[in-house]
Amino acid sequence: MRLLACGPVVFILLCPPVSARAQPVRAADQNLGASIAAAARVSPTLAALIERVGTLRGLVYIAWAPALRRGIRGALLQKIQLTPDGTRCLWIAVRTGLAHDEVVPTVAHELQHAIEVLESNVRDLAGLARHFGHLATVPGHPTVETEEARRVQRQVERELRRARAPKRCSMC
Ligand SMILES: [Zn+2]
Repeated sequence: MRLLACGPVVFILLCPPVSARAQPVRAADQNLGASIAAAARVSPTLAALIERVGTLRGLVYIAWAPALRRGIRGALLQKIQLTPDGTRCLWIAVRTGLAHDEVVPTVAHELQHAIEVLESNVRDLAGLARHFGHLATVPGHPTVETEEARRVQRQVERELRRARAPKRCSMC
């Protein structure tokens, strides 16, 4: 689930090494970026995922994708770029039109997949294909899944729900 070849999704392929650590997760769309930043302030799990990408010298671009296959909310694209300073760039696509509550947990899920790649020694497309191949549970099937990605998605959902819940007044 949530993993596929690039397909028709169009991304800016630029992968600037400048200050990757300062902002290791970047959204192509300003509103999406603002949603992720706001969520990271109330979801320690999401904040930790973003920090982990930076620690692993990764740079992850996130963009809306209207053309994801039915049933797929997000995808870590089979695309990787290595910059001269050793930063590895990865791309995440998030389905356009998801319910508001689904967007950030989907991003968290795909960030976990990006971290799984960054934690391996994958540095090029062939390595990425091998990595996905090892994860695949159904031979020849284009999508794969990991328990940890499902777990962080649920955890971020819980943390965001908790943050939205009305606060009880401690004086009452
Ligand atoms: Zn997944």
